[in-house]
This record gives sequence, C-alpha cells and structure tokens, in this order.
Amino acid sequence: MSNKRKQTDEKPDGFTLFDAEERLILESEEMVEMLHRAADRLEWMSKVVRQSLREQRRLIRLSDRSQLELQVANRSLADQAKELTRLNTALQQEIVRGEELTEELRRQATVDMLTGTASRRHFFTLAERDLRNAQRFSETLAVLLIDLDHFKEINDRHGHAVGDEVLKHFGQVCNEVFRNIDTVGRLGGEEFAVLLPRTNAAAAEIVAARFLRHLSDSHVPLDDGTSLHYQASVGIAECHPEDDTIERALARADTALYLAKQSGRNCYRLYTEETDEPSAGLRRSI
Ligand code: GH3
Ligand code: MG
Ligand code: MG
Repeated sequence: MSNKRKQTDEKPDGFTLFDAEERLILESEEMVEMLHRAADRLEWMSKVVRQSLREQRRLIRLSDRSQLELQVANRSLADQAKELTRLNTALQQEIVRGEELTEELRRQATVDMLTGTASRRHFFTLAERDLRNAQRFSETLAVLLIDLDHFKEINDRHGHAVGDEVLKHFGQVCNEVFRNIDTVGRLGGEEFAVLLPRTNAAAAEIVAARFLRHLSDSHVPLDDGTSLHYQASVGIAECHPEDDTIERALARADTALYLAKQSGRNCYRLYTEETDEPSAGLRRSI
C-alpha cells in the first residue's frame, strides 16, 4: 500500500480534496470513454443506416429500371401480339384464297369453261364409273355422241366469237334437256358425248329426238339483233356388258354418228350390228 493511500485511509471521513479530484478525473475519463464508445456506436449506426439507405436507393433504382424494362417489354409484347394477330388474319385469308384457288383449279380441270359441260378427262372418269355401276347392277347404259353440223361454216360466216356463243348455247340446251343423272362432256371442238344411265337403245332414241327438236326450236341471239339457228347430228350406242372401257361404246356411237352425217345431218342414228358393216365407211378417231 502506498503512502498516499495510507494518508487517505487515515482520514476520518475518508475524503480528501485530491481524492475528489482524482475521482472526478476518473469519472470524467470513464465518461469520455463512454462518450467515445457511444460516438463509435453512433458512427457505426450511421454507417449502417447510410449503407442501408444506399442499398435502398440502389434497390429503388433497380426496381425503377425493372419497371421501365417491364413496360418496354410489355409494349413490345403487345406489339408482337398485334403483329401476330395481323399475320394470323393474313394467314387465314391466304388459306381461304388457297382453298378458293384449289376449288377453281378443280373446277377448271373438271368443267369445260365455255359450255359448262364436263371436261374431256372428267367425262371419261365419270363414264368409267357409270359403266362399272351399270355392269354391277345389270342396268342399261346408253351413250350419245353429238356433233354440231357445219360448225366451221358458222365460224367462217359469223366469226369465232359467235361460234363460241353457239357452243355456250349448246351447253345450256344440254343442261335443259338432259337429266341430273346424265353426264354431258365436251370431247373436243364441237363434239360432245352424253351418258344416259338406266337407258336402253329405244329410250335413247327418244331422248336424241327430243334433243334435236329442242335444238331446232331454239336460236342464238346475235348482237346485230338477228338470231342464229344451228343443228347437230347424233350417234347412239348402247353399252354392252362385255365393254371393258367406255371407249368401245363411244366407238360404236361414232360409227352411228358418221351414218347420221352421211344421212344428211340434223338427225340421229342408232348403232346396230348391221350399222357396223365395213361399208359404214371411215372411222373417225374420238
Ligand atoms: P360437220 O357438219 O361435218 O361436222 O362439219 P363441221 O364444219 O361442223 O366440222 P369441221 O370438223 O369441219 O369443223 C369444226 C370446226 O369447229 C373447226 C374448228 O375451228 C371449230 N372449233 C373447234 N373448237 C372451237 C371452239 O372452241 N370455238 C369455236 N368458235 N370454234 C371451234
Ligand atoms: Mg361438226
Ligand atoms: Mg366435229
């Protein structure tokens, strides 16, 4: 124990002026210490708060940027959706146009545009079907081969356009005279073939006579106010069970048509065994 302490202890009330100062200094030092610690703490807290603020600001900036980017992305998505809708509509229109085009091509392949009758190729497809059906159900099937008379003269006298009008008119007459189940096809130029299902030779002759009558009763109106009459010749043949193709029946009808032409035109002739004798003359190719 130091002398100084000893002196202090010796004081009856244990208090000296120096002690008080000493204690004051100690307390001051402790307070300064505490203040330092508090200051350190405050500094640390302010650092944390500043850091947190910085972080918050960064997050807000990030969020703002994200929102902006989101808005831009949204706008771009909306634009893309609009473009997709536009493309979709265009595609739908393209599909419809494609279907119409396919239908038009199919029509052009199956229908003769001038007369509205079946095209040559389509006629043969339908004819084979009719022939098979007739054979399968043991039904009669007759074929008419019709050729316009002196058609070249009509063209020469009135022009090709009037010739076309005549062919168009001929198609309309066919449409009026023949039944729905009959098939009329343009084999070429001014030559037509007609298939008459469930029709025998006798009935086919009645049909041919009616057709020719209808033709001579009608006329084609011309631009100059006049009208034009024209005629045709018809060869008739019945299909046989042994006919493996429609061409065989058509060849017989062609023989009969040749006879009709030989007989002065504007008439029909039915093919018979007698018709087909060599003297019947030249065969024309179908
Ligand atoms: P026939 O009484 O012996 O049958 O004589 P035709 O004059 O009718 O027969 P021909 O074979 O001598 O002449 C047929 C004509 O048909 C010749 C051709 O120029 C014409 N022709 C063929 N196709 C068409 C067409 O699409 N339009 C027009 N206007 N004429 C056509
Ligand atoms: Mg002719
Ligand atoms: Mg001809």
